[in-house]
This record gives sequence, structure tokens and C-alpha cells, in this order.
Amino acid sequence: MSPSSSPSCKRVATSLPSPVQAYLQRLESIPTFRGSDGLWLNYTLSDLATPRAFRKNPSKVWQFYHYRREIAGKALPNPAHIALALFSQPDQRKEIAPDAEFTLITQNVDGLSVLCSQMLFPSTDPPIIEMHGRLFETLCTQCGDRMPNRDSPICPALAGTEELVKSHAKERQIPLEDLPRCQKCRGLLRPGVVWFEESILHDEEISELVDQADVALVIGTSSQVAPANLFAHSVAERKGTVAVFNTEPQGIGSAHFYFPGPCEQTLPTVLLGKEPDKMNDVLQQD
Ligand SMILES: [Zn+2]
Repeated sequence: MSPSSSPSCKRVATSLPSPVQAYLQRLESIPTFRGSDGLWLNYTLSDLATPRAFRKNPSKVWQFYHYRREIAGKALPNPAHIALALFSQPDQRKEIAPDAEFTLITQNVDGLSVLCSQMLFPSTDPPIIEMHGRLFETLCTQCGDRMPNRDSPICPALAGTEELVKSHAKERQIPLEDLPRCQKCRGLLRPGVVWFEESILHDEEISELVDQADVALVIGTSSQVAPANLFAHSVAERKGTVAVFNTEPQGIGSAHFYFPGPCEQTLPTVLLGKEPDKMNDVLQQD
């Protein structure tokens, strides 16, 4: 069974809901908010990932995001990222979906999908929409300027604070003026990610894609987080084909196909007919 069974396939929308984001991150040993190996367990999401939390204590929130940036910045794409990057190339899809267009809509903020595509296909603009923003981007709270930023550390005052976290020491109280500032207006910068209580990015573009998609590949759990969980439902309602790749059969209600197992195992096999173990070779060759 494969998603290619829809002969009218014109467009494929792929969504990576946050459970798989957590999963992909765990594969790369990136601690997550709530994982069993997670740090920052003394804080809830509302302490760290909301506009309110940032207004109340930007120093604490920046230390958390600095910590995440330092870890994510050292991570490399895994076989799931590689399989999706290959599948985004039309010549790689000719067997399974010859005339299809493909867009990856991801909730991941670590940038690994984009990084993987850039490593493999540096001259191609990757068809990826990062609906929850980017860890390696800043947003000015004053002038609204968004800028890519992979500085490590992002500012001198945050240097080494990730070590405090590892040792379970309490975070520092860093003065506002020493936190990351905008190069244009000197306003306070915040991480360029979408927080709880905020709207997703590129929502119109995503709606248009989902409305046109006749195949949805849902990688991870499909039923937990809105609006990503609505994408597959919308495709299914229009008689499109839905395939779920997930370790657990949760949320496969509207799916026509279910591929159980870790996505770094199932994606290379199902999408490309390649052995998962060979995926890292692809990255090294290029
Ligand atoms: Zn600014």
C-alpha cells in the first residue's frame, strides 16, 4: 500500500504535528519541554512559551530559548528529514507520484528540514513552510523586524547559561539591556517562534495548499494539535487520500493508509523504496 494509489494526485501536503516534532528532536538528543529526559521540568509551557511569559520575564524565556538554540544548532538531520528532502525533489517522486507537487508544512522550529534540503540541494528553494517560525530567527518587539540569526551565543550575557540549566541551577536574572537587541532600533528582540496564544505563520498559504491537496501525509499524531490536525480531515472530506506515519495508531480515524513505526524507518521505505540505514550515506555523499 502506498500514497501513490491516488491517480489524480496533484499536490501532496505533509504536516509534522508537534508530537512528531518532539519525536524528531528526541532522535537528535535534543531535550524537549516535557520529555522524560527533559530539563526545565520545573516550568510549565505557560512559564516559557507565551507572550505573557516573555513580558513577565524575558530573561528566563531567553535563557530557555538560548539553551534550545545551542542544542539544536549542533544537531544534524536524521533519516526522516533526509527522506522528506529527497521526496521534495520531482525526480525522486516519479515512481510514486509522477505529476505531484509537494509541500512540507512543519511545526518544527529547529530548522533541520530546511538545513537538510540545503545540504542536499543547495541550488533549490526547499518547498517547506515553517508554520511555527524558527528558533534561529529573531523578531523585534519594537519595530517588528525579523532576522535570521545563528549566533552562538546570541549575545554575551547569555553565554554559558545553558550550562546552568544542565546543572539544574536556577537561571540568571539578566538585565533587559543585556538581552538580544535589534540592530535597527535597539528594541528588545524575542525568539522568532510562534508561541501558545499566537497565530500560526503563513496561514493563508497553508489554507490554500490544504484546500488543493488531494493527498495528505500526516507524519506523527494527527489528532492532537490544531490546526495541523484539521489538514488531513479537510483533505479526507474532499475525498482525498490520507496516510498516517506514526508509532501509535492514534488519530488515524480518517486515514486510508497507516504506516506504523518510527518515521525515520517508515519514510525512507515507503516514500523512496530505500533502506533507512542508507539515508545517512545520502547526506555524506552530498
Ligand atoms: Zn527593531
